[in-house]
Amino acid sequence: MEFDLARLQISEALRYRRRVSGTTASLGYLPERLLLDGGCGTSLIARGLDVRAEPTALWNITRPDEVRAVHHGFIEAGAAAIQTNTFVANRLALEARGISEVRACNLAAAAVAREAAAGSGVMVIGNIGPSGQVPPPQGDANLSQLEETFAEQASYLAAGGVDLLHIETMVHPKEMRAALRGAREGAPGMPVVVSIACRASGDSFKSTMGFAIDSMLAVAIEEKADGIGANCMLCPIEMVPLIELIVAKASVPVFAKPTIAPDGGAPLYPDEFAEGVARLFAAGARAVGGCCGTSFKDISTARRRLDRGYR
Ligand SMILES: [Zn+2]
Repeated sequence: MEFDLARLQISEALRYRRRVSGTTASLGYLPERLLLDGGCGTSLIARGLDVRAEPTALWNITRPDEVRAVHHGFIEAGAAAIQTNTFVANRLALEARGISEVRACNLAAAAVAREAAAGSGVMVIGNIGPSGQVPPPQGDANLSQLEETFAEQASYLAAGGVDLLHIETMVHPKEMRAALRGAREGAPGMPVVVSIACRASGDSFKSTMGFAIDSMLAVAIEEKADGIGANCMLCPIEMVPLIELIVAKASVPVFAKPTIAPDGGAPLYPDEFAEGVARLFAAGARAVGGCCGTSFKDISTARRRLDRGYR
């Protein structure tokens, strides 16, 4: 594998941060443009793994070679950070599928990602997805149970050696607050990024559960997320105005993980995706990658597009 100075600088900066500060989480060390990986779960499904037979997180234990191959594929494609295969690996989401090995799934995921990244300087991001439960009054989730659930997963990912946490696909402000508080509690001192899944609504955006983007951002800011972002639902070009809006409101690094297809449309070609990635960086995003359906080819095309400059 080719060594990359920018990647080595990131891992040096991370080691330095750990040495000088055990408690203050901050993403100030991120490079100006951090290219993330693409869709981990969808890449595993594309390799023939059957999500109906086993939840994706169990593959960290039963199919570690496949998970490692996906991480390697994105590293080879030029991603400077990879996310653990733990989007559906919190206790509530796993127990809904009859799985109780929460600790083993998360520790195995972190280990596989760390092995794949070893020696490359690539950052390992611990991925946390929704609980699958809806807070009141829309649903009957117990908020302290949600917070405990997120704290538990965050603690395992931290024990597994991830560099930061990324809570994704948040659509309800109360679940987002519980996730941020839980992550802080379970992984004290570790930077935590939170991303919201939105759709366009008039001339602004709403979470897919119908909450105004401003009410979602207010929670992320109140809870002092170290990074705020958007993921899923929108393709890169559709996400540009959303990222501009977040950049205008947030004083922390902004993350963007668009999907490969516009809402309800056909997948973009890799060149179109890559152009959109460049525009997301130009809009002020600090880290950009791909959500559902984005492949090695999409990320490698984005890498080449960025290496050419983005203006
Ligand atoms: Zn997605």
